[in-house]
Amino acid sequence: MTPEEFLEELLDTPAPTGMEMDAQRLWAQYIAPYTDEQECDAYGSTWAVLKAARPGAPTLMLDAHADEIGFSIRHIADNGFAYLERCGGSDVAIARGRRLRFFGTDGEVCGVIGNTAIHIRDDADKAPKLWDLYVDFGCDSREEVEALGLRVGDCGVYCDGPLVLNDKRIVCRALDDRLCGYIIAQTARTLHEQGIKPEWNIVFANTVQEEIGCVGAGMLAYRLQPDAAICLDVTHATDTPGLSQARYGDVRLGKGAALSFGPVCHPNVNARLELVAEQGDIPLQRETTGRGTGTNTDQVYRSRSGVPATNLSLPLRYMHSPVEMADRADVQACTDLLVAFVKSLKAADDFRHRL
Ligand SMILES: [Zn+2]
Repeated sequence: MTPEEFLEELLDTPAPTGMEMDAQRLWAQYIAPYTDEQECDAYGSTWAVLKAARPGAPTLMLDAHADEIGFSIRHIADNGFAYLERCGGSDVAIARGRRLRFFGTDGEVCGVIGNTAIHIRDDADKAPKLWDLYVDFGCDSREEVEALGLRVGDCGVYCDGPLVLNDKRIVCRALDDRLCGYIIAQTARTLHEQGIKPEWNIVFANTVQEEIGCVGAGMLAYRLQPDAAICLDVTHATDTPGLSQARYGDVRLGKGAALSFGPVCHPNVNARLELVAEQGDIPLQRETTGRGTGTNTDQVYRSRSGVPATNLSLPLRYMHSPVEMADRADVQACTDLLVAFVKSLKAADDFRHRL
């Protein structure tokens, strides 16, 4: 499978939080030829290991999250309309009039979120409440909906698939964080193609349930006890109209990955990333978070007695919408940076603070 084919199939494989296994199996299959072993845990976090040249080496965890936001069915009314629960941070303000793919006992079922026409709607300018949204499966009764194989608790995601704009910007639902899972897999592929045998063990991890509290990454860090970790996620690009750089910082598409600075992000890991970026002429932006990063890093760094970790982010416009947008050059820059970081690791490296 070419990288392009893999990305397209990965984006086309829904993985709402708690239902990640189809996408995980695809990811594990792609990364297998470039790594020594692949495994998954009880809840589906999946990882592949590239073993160090010598035994007893320290371990680096490269993490992305496998899950995406979505909806689940809360209630199916007698008239056949279904009401929704949110799966992660789905934005109800943009939900009406959209197509959804649900996954029931008999496979995929499409539906649309009803949108009362503007002419006959009282609250034309107001965002709906979650419980105002209803899904129309084309059915006239609850029995008809159930006959399609749908039950309370079944999950769905927006239908919107990948689209490339101006040959450089990729648009899709769930670029958060499927694109980072892709970057991690491409890092493994690149190391393999360059014949690199690293001095550390490299764990490529695609963890579950980030969207509801970074849960899978916490479980996996506890299990694997890495000596350092880099968690990849998306961050808000602030280069669109109406966003204040004074308030949100200055992160742009096409200027490279954004490295987080703040108490969670270990200065020794950050220093190495900045060094290899400079030496390799790889673009890198900076951003800051005064407390948590809101990413898997927050769970990984506090695992057991602490893991030197940081958060590396891919700039993204329109997060948690069906038109999330990223720049292909940033995907490449992020991959280049991770490859350079892995190559820089020496068996004796230790990122922990010392007196
Ligand atoms: Zn994310």
